[in-house]
Amino acid sequence: MTADNTSFDVVILGGGSGGYACALRASQLGLTVALVEKDKVGGTCLHRGCIPTKALLHAAEIADAVRESAQFGVNASLEGVDLRQVNTYKDEIVGRLYKGLQGLIKSREITVVQGNGRLVGPRTVEVDGIRYDGKHVVLASGSVTRSLPGLDIDGERVVSSWEAMQLDTVPQRVVVIGGGVIGVEFASAWRSFGAEVTILEALPRLLAAEDPSSSKALERAFRKRGIVVEANTAFSGVERTPSGVRVTVESGETSEADICLVAVGRGPHTADLGYEEQGVELDRGFVATNERLQTKLAGAYAVGDIVPGMQLAHRGFQHGIFVAEDIAGLEPAVINEADIPRVTYCEPEVASVGLSEDQAKAAHGPDEIESLTYDLGGNGKSQILKTQGFVKVVRRRGGPVLGVHMVGSRVGELIGEAQLICSWEAFPEDVSALVHMHPTQNEALGEAHLALAGKPLHSHS
Ligand SMILES: Cc1cc2nc3c(=O)[nH]c(=O)nc-3n(C[C@H](O)[C@H](O)[C@H](O)COP(=O)(O)OP(=O)(O)OC[C@H]3O[C@@H](n4cnc5c(N)ncnc54)[C@H](O)[C@@H]3O)c2cc1C
Repeated sequence: MTADNTSFDVVILGGGSGGYACALRASQLGLTVALVEKDKVGGTCLHRGCIPTKALLHAAEIADAVRESAQFGVNASLEGVDLRQVNTYKDEIVGRLYKGLQGLIKSREITVVQGNGRLVGPRTVEVDGIRYDGKHVVLASGSVTRSLPGLDIDGERVVSSWEAMQLDTVPQRVVVIGGGVIGVEFASAWRSFGAEVTILEALPRLLAAEDPSSSKALERAFRKRGIVVEANTAFSGVERTPSGVRVTVESGETSEADICLVAVGRGPHTADLGYEEQGVELDRGFVATNERLQTKLAGAYAVGDIVPGMQLAHRGFQHGIFVAEDIAGLEPAVINEADIPRVTYCEPEVASVGLSEDQAKAAHGPDEIESLTYDLGGNGKSQILKTQGFVKVVRRRGGPVLGVHMVGSRVGELIGEAQLICSWEAFPEDVSALVHMHPTQNEALGEAHLALAGKPLHSHS
């Protein structure tokens, strides 16, 4: 930091996953950093996204385990779900991580500027009338809940994910509008807590960004769990009733519920922040960047959810690290979006990395692609857990693995190895030589590669 305390090597606007990761890495590289945050460092992921929802989903998993315990020979009964207590558990986790993050930021001597920032010069951010000048500026202002015309979030009966994660009682009936990641995760948790859940999705399938086989398996599993999935069903209106809400779809059919969750995606938070005035180009609200995350404004970068692509915390972290290293002159390798792993933490989980089969065929030609689906029915640990699903591996014929797609309880934990396989462009033959621990679900990944390499073990050729 310089003597006047307002000139820095890097000024970062937004202290979420993208912004704070950039701050931590930049300071590690000896750069002086100001991190401007109007709310709490940690951003959406820590306070309103990944962490609180995964705590809810873990509580949901416990509710399922108790409810279904008798089939494992353990007699227990689920007396109820105390959402206030679940929230205490969830908030304690967030609180501890927040404290840890604040300590880490302090230890790296990053200057945290508390307040609402605005870009007022090419590399200048103003907060409460004070100007912070950077040799570089990093835009990291994140995303906000989107809605649809006629779908006003009142925070009480028509809620966003933020209100949904703070409910203190389990609703009896819920309509979830949107079958993307956030929608299916809440649907899953609420069903485990005992609610009747209907998901309305305008597209033909849940998790439309995933390989169609994953969507199909998830839908089947959800129906088995009693979650009603209405695909190809577009919302047309919502009205308050004395006891809750009535949601109408385009066909004219209605669903009554206590609450309605709006989960139709998140939009970039870039309006009224001075970006366009300073020469940052926006494309439908997102910040246009080149592959090195540089905006059209010299010296200004963008990271995280404001950059078009998948809105994921670890993508934000990677963006932040990349930009810090780029600024420090380390010339980091460009991030390959397809190599960023995706996990949806519903029950069963859906995980993937790399290309879907259709994407691989489009990129390399249909005849160049082969795929293999290994059913978790052949995997001992999955049988022990009583979960169903699969590991699907997509490869270039005679070439490397291009994508891995998985469905089943806990398969999110397998994504690490799948990611290494895809990112290192391993051949199934390479992976088949690696020994996988027995009995683990990880073995299913090994078995799928054994089969694709032409030497299936616990599966039919
Ligand atoms: C319900 C939910 C569940 C999710 N679950 C997952 C998950 O399991 N895994 C996953 O990878 N991702 C998940 N995500 C997505 C993840 O939270 C985001 O991708 C990630 O937070 C994006 O990081 P970011 O830094 O771009 O933005 P944010 O985390 O949104 O951070 C932006 C920050 O900028 C601050 N800010 C904005 N404007 C200003 C201003 N003018 N002045 C000062 N500060 C400002 C905000 O207060 C905020 O702290 C989830 C999101 C939601 C909503």
